[in-house]
Amino acid sequence: MPDTDKPLFSAEEISEMPHRLDEAMQWHLAWSQRLLRCALLGEPPAEDMLQTNAHELCEFGRWFVPTSERLSKLEPVCVHNLDSAHSNMHRAVRELYLAALEGRQADSYWFEAFELNQAAMVHELALLKEQFVRSGAQSDPLTGLPLRHGLHTLFAVRQTDAERNGNGVFVALIDADNFKKINDSHGHAVGDAALVHLARLLKSALRGNDHLLRYGGEEFMLVFLGVDDEAAANVAERLLDLVRANPMLLPDGQALPLTISVGMTRALPHDSLESAIRRADVALYQAKRFGRNRLEWALD
Ligand code: GH3
Ligand code: MG
Ligand code: MG
Repeated sequence: MPDTDKPLFSAEEISEMPHRLDEAMQWHLAWSQRLLRCALLGEPPAEDMLQTNAHELCEFGRWFVPTSERLSKLEPVCVHNLDSAHSNMHRAVRELYLAALEGRQADSYWFEAFELNQAAMVHELALLKEQFVRSGAQSDPLTGLPLRHGLHTLFAVRQTDAERNGNGVFVALIDADNFKKINDSHGHAVGDAALVHLARLLKSALRGNDHLLRYGGEEFMLVFLGVDDEAAANVAERLLDLVRANPMLLPDGQALPLTISVGMTRALPHDSLESAIRRADVALYQAKRFGRNRLEWALD
């Protein structure tokens, strides 16, 4: 196989990358701490602090520099921004540090440059991480939605994000109602078109970090962050309304009404993906039992 046909990153690398990028941030926090110790306690500076190529010598740089060529084929702008934020941040620190060593008052410009570039680095690392979380999931050719692959990584990343921000991770199972009847009355092709229609509607309501996937057959899953149960319920109600309000138009101009049922749960701190899905599935079963076209919550 020619080199160009090889995937840029193996499935294993893709699933590990979010963790790697989190680690990268940790490395830089540790670096800032070491730097503070040197500046404030007079400890001798390491080579990744004062040298002009310090950004290639720090732990992040030693990982980033050799990886950036492949990374930039995937996300050129992000990688370019990350590279300059990182080296500019090192440059600013060097200027501040040298001024301190020489007993001069440093120009505040360098302090602002340090802060801005550090913030830019955090931002770009988060974007890259998001990209890998998403590309870990392969997509379904019918609806274009991701499939389950990569879901464990996504769930783990969302659990960490939620812990950090005090949000909840919500898992919603969304199942098309009476779908067998649609296939039986209108044929499989119309059934397929109805799934594409539903996927489009659901996708149109997504926000930045919401992750919608085709879970199987006529079933979708939404994993998302919400401030509380009420906000999460609003998300689900919005989806239910959207589907109710937008029947599918058949080739003969007839409108085919569609509805969905939603089973939802809030992931507990030590939930596995499987245990959260199990509860959402019980809730979905209840939604079907109570008449479909509705949201039901899992009982914890
Ligand atoms: P319920 O409201 O209880 O969910 O009823 P239902 O008919 O939707 O559920 P059931 O599980 O009995 O049937 C699901 C149907 O969805 C049967 C299956 O053929 C159809 N289906 C699953 N995947 C596809 C697909 O990719 N294309 C089409 N056209 N139909 C599909
Ligand atoms: Mg169904
Ligand atoms: Mg089903």
